[in-house]
Amino acid sequence: MSNRRYVIASIPGDGIGKEVIPVGQEAADAVADRHGFSIEWRPLDWSCERYDRTGRMMPEDGIDQVKECDSIYLGAVGWPGVPDHVSLWGLLIPLRRDLDLYANVRPVRLLEGVTSPLAGRGKADIDFVVVRENVEGEYSEIGGRLYRGTEHEAAVQETVFTRRGVDRILDYAFELAKTRPRKHVTSATKSNGIVHTMPFWDERFEAAKQRHPGVGTAQFHIDILTANFVLHPDWFDVVVGSNLFGDILSDLGPACAGSIGIAPSANLNPSRALPSMFEPVHGSAPDIAGKGVANPIAAVWTAAMMLDFLGEPEAAKTLEKAMEAVLTDPAARTRDLGGTADTKACGQAILKAIAG
Ligand code: ATP
Ligand code: MG
Repeated sequence: MSNRRYVIASIPGDGIGKEVIPVGQEAADAVADRHGFSIEWRPLDWSCERYDRTGRMMPEDGIDQVKECDSIYLGAVGWPGVPDHVSLWGLLIPLRRDLDLYANVRPVRLLEGVTSPLAGRGKADIDFVVVRENVEGEYSEIGGRLYRGTEHEAAVQETVFTRRGVDRILDYAFELAKTRPRKHVTSATKSNGIVHTMPFWDERFEAAKQRHPGVGTAQFHIDILTANFVLHPDWFDVVVGSNLFGDILSDLGPACAGSIGIAPSANLNPSRALPSMFEPVHGSAPDIAGKGVANPIAAVWTAAMMLDFLGEPEAAKTLEKAMEAVLTDPAARTRDLGGTADTKACGQAILKAIAG
């Protein structure tokens, strides 16, 4: 056994998070075993359930606890009855901001065995990554209400793009493109309508192009870009956008490639000074929680992204291959993909595929 050992905070969270995270952990342990490293999981009960019990999503020293880990593996947080702002501001946003997880990364790939809603259009060539700026931009707290309660009432919300914030997300997108066969970056803005912040982003995109010669580029306004995601998904390789535009694209992207049950995501601190966080795109899915039917593939793919980022690309590849093999087997697919397997059976099939 080598001495490569990773300490990973595991936050299953709520609903199906508690069902899919154990599958992802077991699969990660299996590939770790095969590739000669080990994982120490630090289970944390941070969730809406904990909030109901204690009044807090996470303990006061929560951020310090996870800072000691190599990464964070999170299922889903959110539950009916607990307002969204509690799970968001009580857990996800502090994690994003305090760990400076400024790059939200969502790969979108149409895998064999999965039907894309676009498949009927003959647009099956889908393999791109959405990179969203995750900590500034449109989601600022600057603004407020004027003339409250009067007929002149107005709401103002400020957007903040800093040169540092925009440059570092663009650099991340360009660096990512260099690792991919097509080496292409598309930038999303709306500089014809939003006349201060978006042109600034465009300027910084021009500067980034100069820093990264050899990478192809394209720029679209967000409106036509969303249309092209649907009409020409094959045009895209790395797509980078602000917090708001990236948010929209990072939900639309995975939807183009089929089920939400397979879509992974990463919240990265590319400097690696602090741990990054990896979570499936899907939420806690209260409608199917507790039934044991959730698709664990998103959690498994997410674990593969995490291992890759931790410096174990071979293990990540093994995990992705296992997951892809399972998707081609109708008997191992879960209900959301038209199969009959439950979470456990799908998980077992993945372990079997890892064992080869
Ligand atoms: P959140 O606000 O937390 O993102 P959401 O409202 O977007 O949650 P999800 O919890 O992601 O919603 O669920 C959306 C739909 O997709 C639900 O019908 C749910 O059952 C289904 N779904 C989500 N994840 C899975 C999964 N892993 N396997 C099967 N179905 C899933
Ligand atoms: Mg959602």
